[in-house]
Amino acid sequence: MNSGAGAAGSAEQQEAMKQQVASSLASGITYECGDCAAKVQLRPRDPILCQSCGYRILYKVRTARLQQYEAR
Ligand SMILES: [Zn+2]
Repeated sequence: MNSGAGAAGSAEQQEAMKQQVASSLASGITYECGDCAAKVQLRPRDPILCQSCGYRILYKVRTARLQQYEAR
């Protein structure tokens, strides 16, 4: 019935999620600075340090896409 449009949308979403995962793996984990709220991407070995202002307290950012995955 709606297999055409449904399949296309679903495949598109999955592709987007793959790209999201791939990009996050490639560039590390995204943190938000506790001082200037800048988004900082750090690899596991990188020191926890805001690359914008040098603040040392960063919060891990959770992507909204994870909730979409649960909703499925
Ligand atoms: Zn900062």
